[in-house]
Amino acid sequence: MKRSILITLAVAAVLSCTACGKVGKDEGAAVPAAAGNNFTEAATIAEETEEKTTEQPTEAAEETSAEAVETTAEETTADVTEAAAVENEVPQRPSADTAPSHDDPYYAPAPAKHDIEGITYIQGALIANKSYSLPADFNPGLDPTCETQFNKMINDAARQGLNIWFASGFRSYDYQAQIYSNYVARDGQALADTYSARPGYSEHQSGLAIDVNSIDDSFAGTPEAVWLENHCHEYGFILRYPRGKENITGYQYESWHVRYLGTDLSYAVHNSGLTLEEYFGIDSYYHE
Ligand SMILES: [Zn+2]
Repeated sequence: MKRSILITLAVAAVLSCTACGKVGKDEGAAVPAAAGNNFTEAATIAEETEEKTTEQPTEAAEETSAEAVETTAEETTADVTEAAAVENEVPQRPSADTAPSHDDPYYAPAPAKHDIEGITYIQGALIANKSYSLPADFNPGLDPTCETQFNKMINDAARQGLNIWFASGFRSYDYQAQIYSNYVARDGQALADTYSARPGYSEHQSGLAIDVNSIDDSFAGTPEAVWLENHCHEYGFILRYPRGKENITGYQYESWHVRYLGTDLSYAVHNSGLTLEEYFGIDSYYHE
């Protein structure tokens, strides 16, 4: 039983890495290596939850139970008890609508602030877009809270049979300069500016942004992309560049790019239905 699940997972993991035949625009080499790590984690999870696999609630069931929260308090209690019985080793999944409190295991703390001149914070959130740049020597690496919460998120996704993996995280100013100039050489500056940040303006330099899976439009509409869009705020993230908001964020729709904010802001921004720019009332365009 255990072995067959592991083998199935292994096959699924390998297929999902190679079937699309595409590599990330930016860091193709990072994809297989990162996917390998994710597979190891997924296999471990499968081992931990082998007897429960068939009893995992489906996405549809979850949505239904989310609706119940809004309608009947009694039903909610029943749902919670039932779910707890099924997943007694796994913490109860957070609500999609209400932010977990500080003592909840799903509470995602805000990332640490950097006391460095030249960085813009609004309500404690670091801003990196086409209007707000980062100093060239700001080189924080991937934020540790962001990384922890990301792993929590993809582990929960894996429990539901969804394969989301880390493809790209922190990028230094110099590395961004390199890839941006490659894109300009290939597509011209106007087009490159729609999908690649100029050095100093990339959210990836903040250490708070992560790209997942294929890093291209083939990810949009997949079960993983749909889940990420509906649930990443439960782990402190938001989908940073939504569809239809290109003129506000300054970037094309990126189904694969999430930004870490921590629970307080991720729920507030997600529930507002606004982009980060709209939520804070700021713009995103190159002022030069
Ligand atoms: Zn990105």
